Amino acid sequence: MAHDFPNHLVAGYGRYLNKGYVRFRETQEQLAIYGQRPDVMVISCCDSRVTPEGVFHAGPGELFVVRNVANLVPPYEETDGQHGTSAALEYAVRVLKVKHIVVMGHAKCGGVHAFRENANAPLATGAFIGRWIKLLEPAAIAMACMPVDKLDDPQLAMEYAGVRQSLKNLATFPFVDEAMRNEGLKVHGAWFDIGSGDLRVMDPETSKFESCAPESFAGEVAAG
Ligand SMILES: [Zn+2]
Repeated sequence: MAHDFPNHLVAGYGRYLNKGYVRFRETQEQLAIYGQRPDVMVISCCDSRVTPEGVFHAGPGELFVVRNVANLVPPYEETDGQHGTSAALEYAVRVLKVKHIVVMGHAKCGGVHAFRENANAPLATGAFIGRWIKLLEPAAIAMACMPVDKLDDPQLAMEYAGVRQSLKNLATFPFVDEAMRNEGLKVHGAWFDIGSGDLRVMDPETSKFESCAPESFAGEVAAG
């Protein structure tokens, strides 16, 4: 076949057929027939180092995932426009009726870094990243007013603040609010440290992030 599809992707696909597909063949056949019923939605960054299925060791059909720059949830709005993340959220909550939504931030986030470096830079006509990461502005304001984290690592503090803001924005969607009140939907903040593999989960009462590694792994993920 004549195509310039990358060879390493074809080779990787071959390994998938040998290992991944064989392993999950029955599950996938069932999923194809009966459809998906994931009970968890994950909103994470596009960053190639942060893969929800990898972090949660999840197979096909387990996680409904939307990824965008800096793992942001925009606030609910009724304006015209192509609201991809909001559309995924709507499908997850109204159709799939997921029970949990996890907003997963991460270390060394380029989107957060870009916001911190260029928060006030004029936007180029037609550019998208600047407009998108403006969603972090309320997070920066909230962080300045109520610093729940020590600010000795401003990048980390902003990554946490971005997750908190996305959780706030989630609640502005009427169908999310409704599902949280009446259908037991729970929303969670989390943050993944690429280098150490540490996953921290936000305590909804204190808004602080703490490692959730099982006891047996506590020594393996460095508290960094
Ligand atoms: Zn990122």
